Amino acid sequence: MDAEEREQRRLTARQDVARLTAEGVRAVAVSWVDNAGISRAKTVPAARLVDAAHRGIGMSPVFDVFTSDDAITTSEHIGGPDGDLRLFPDLDRLTVLAARPGWAWAPADRYDQQGRPHPACQRQFARRMAERAAGHGLELRMGFETEWTVVRDSRDSRDDGDGNDGNDNETTPRTGDFAGRGPAYGLTRVTELSAYLLALHDALDAQRVEVLQIHPEYAPGQFEVSTAPADPVRAADDLVLVRETVRAVSAAHGLRASFAPAVVAGQVGNGCHLHLSLREHGHNLHRDPTGRYGLAATADTFLGAVLDALPALCAIGAPSPASYLRLVPSHWAGVHRCWGVENREAALRLVLGEPDDPDGGHAELKPFDAAANPYLLTGAVIAAGLRGVLDGGPALPGPVTGDPAGRGDQERLPTSLSEALGHFVRDDALREALGEELWGAIVAVRRAESGALAELGPGELAEATRWRW
Ligand code: GLU
Ligand code: MG
Repeated sequence: MDAEEREQRRLTARQDVARLTAEGVRAVAVSWVDNAGISRAKTVPAARLVDAAHRGIGMSPVFDVFTSDDAITTSEHIGGPDGDLRLFPDLDRLTVLAARPGWAWAPADRYDQQGRPHPACQRQFARRMAERAAGHGLELRMGFETEWTVVRDSRDSRDDGDGNDGNDNETTPRTGDFAGRGPAYGLTRVTELSAYLLALHDALDAQRVEVLQIHPEYAPGQFEVSTAPADPVRAADDLVLVRETVRAVSAAHGLRASFAPAVVAGQVGNGCHLHLSLREHGHNLHRDPTGRYGLAATADTFLGAVLDALPALCAIGAPSPASYLRLVPSHWAGVHRCWGVENREAALRLVLGEPDDPDGGHAELKPFDAAANPYLLTGAVIAAGLRGVLDGGPALPGPVTGDPAGRGDQERLPTSLSEALGHFVRDDALREALGEELWGAIVAVRRAESGALAELGPGELAEATRWRW
């Protein structure tokens, strides 16, 4: 980042501060997402945003090797107490937080003290991959589905004699603890939580996050929000913002939101599916009248390569040992490495959309969950797909109909983090795309988490990770 760019940022931030002050904002949270999928933050008084935009905010590089339980590991390139990085808030995404009065938020890019991009910056990795695709004439549109589960926050209100001050959130929620107890997908659940859901719609609207739909999901207390497609970095930013908004609105309604892959072991989990489509010269490559299922050859090959890389991509998109509590057959989590047209048990669901909707066709990748760093995930999916396009790799195999569970003709995706990691470390294309610093830090964090949580039984693992993301 050169002096001219910094000066420009300073001037823009001055105008932003004037606007924020007029809107009553007094503090700004600047966040990034670490390799364990945790959003971490620094906050500054609103007036300091000018300085933050100009010089960045200091942070330790060691956060790249934090695990989801806040332990710290080391990689070949990263670890230890030395060094400093600068967090630069992206002023284009500066957002007044509707459900946190007095606060604004911005996602950060990370640089070193000389103004060079930090090689392990996940957000810049996602941008680099989008630019790599653009270099081949391809544009990606992406959007996430966020699933979460709401539990009544009983900390202040109840002591049922279990000896922990009424804080039942520390123990496995029981049926009565979930908010929205009506049937799966039930209108009853919307009615039960209508004020809450309306506040969520309002907050996301005020923050200019385009909501496609919010609906009750399968498990008790479970809901889902899906947002409109955007460029990959924006889609990942949206996910971070959506999650913080859900958290804030939940707190204001006496609820606590869990985004964990497995809130309760053995129940349907929280997914975080990634929807994507490919465009060339503004045309959706899922809308080619000459291709099978409307897929232009480039999109067919791109998706074929993503499907091929899915076992390795699970180390990015299902990155916690707890992710594998969720990844069980016949739960709509897409645990077989196959694809199908509108097949909700296939890892890759091809969505055809309405015939007269030029934007309708796209693909959905289902095995991923909210423990994933969304910037790593969008970037890694692009890297995997592009490899196929550039190598002239195989198109998608034949589609699968029905639930592949128990049929024995479709490969199961990894059933543990260590299995996914085994695929990941052998994937040279992902390693090249990520670069050594980022790749090494991801491997170190995954190894540390596999080790630390390996001894836990399913119930303990769900409990240890329930409130982390
Ligand atoms: N809750 C399911 C999962 O774990 C997904 C349900 C759906 O298809 O939206 O991924
Ligand atoms: Mg869902």
